[in-house]
Amino acid sequence: MKLLFLSTPVGCLGSGQGGGVELTLQNVAQEMRKRGHEVQVVAPVGSVLGDIRIVGIAGNLQVPAQSQGRDLPICLPDNSVLANMCEYVRQEQTNYDLIVNFAYDWLPFYLTPFFRCPIAHFISMGSMSVALDRIMTDVAQKFPEAIAVYTLSQAATFPFAESCHILGSGIDLDLYQFCPQPGESLAWLGRIAPEKALEDAVAAAKITGIPLRIFGKMQDRDYWQQICQDYPDAPVEYGGFLSTVELQRELGQCRAMLMTPRWVEAFGNVVIEAFACGVPVIAYRLGGPAEIVRDGKTGFLVEPGSVTGLVEAIQRINEIDRYACRQQAEAEYSLAALGDRFEIWFNQVRQS
Ligand code: UDP
Repeated sequence: MKLLFLSTPVGCLGSGQGGGVELTLQNVAQEMRKRGHEVQVVAPVGSVLGDIRIVGIAGNLQVPAQSQGRDLPICLPDNSVLANMCEYVRQEQTNYDLIVNFAYDWLPFYLTPFFRCPIAHFISMGSMSVALDRIMTDVAQKFPEAIAVYTLSQAATFPFAESCHILGSGIDLDLYQFCPQPGESLAWLGRIAPEKALEDAVAAAKITGIPLRIFGKMQDRDYWQQICQDYPDAPVEYGGFLSTVELQRELGQCRAMLMTPRWVEAFGNVVIEAFACGVPVIAYRLGGPAEIVRDGKTGFLVEPGSVTGLVEAIQRINEIDRYACRQQAEAEYSLAALGDRFEIWFNQVRQS
């Protein structure tokens, strides 16, 4: 197949601004190329994606949907990079068998019937906007195979849940080293943004006195400063936004990873990255992580919002066999498994 990938327009690939979808896009592109398909990625100029060639498009970035109200009208900035990327796709579409959209935005959904080349839409978050839900629902009705998501709980946030293909995620397991003997610290990974509720993990660290190492894109500095003010003496350390190579090295040393989102996390790529390093995950029983973590086997699931629940789970972490975590990643979240699921879906969209 000749595949044209439309990237997220909220930031450059490699910046972390797009969150987990950056890693998913990279992994799908890499695996499709390995299978002999041709992949071209269209992304904001400045994007980097390993050794995959990118057509960089200039223009102003889109504001992330999760930082906006549900009822807001659809907005595009002047000289929108999203509009410019869509124009590139329009011009080039006849050279491809399938367009794969990774942008969580109204425009590519609206344009679906206007393109001559079929479009597959991979949706990377749960429902965020009334207007976006409506256009996605329209697409799901007109093109019943066209939409895929990460998990069942993510699909359930949309009115068109039934028509979603559920594809999960996957990672290049060779990049993550299994670490059998961790140090003392706990880990928290993710964008530093209110929907991730980092403060719950910080509160748990304060109560237990166990150091918490935090890694991820600093997306909302005011939010971070508020946490530092509210918990001045919690044993936490922010380690910055790391590359996969550095991240797995630091993560592997940790006893457990805490995953404390306030929203319905669509998947949580960081959960399977932790597993790949042999790190158990303590997560709220909500969204993607609740579908991934095996309670009592590869981590613990805790009542959403319960800091006491987090603390109790931390105290029981030695019950988890770290090797079982690595095994779950290998069995369910390899690049080969991810590639199979996406390849089947791509063929279904093309044949529909
Ligand atoms: N991440 C990273 N470096 C860091 C911390 C996180 O590259 O220091 C990446 C991580 O690999 C993952 C993404 O950030 O792919 C977070 O994605 P996730 O699916 O967990 O959440 P999202 O941001 O999509 O809500």
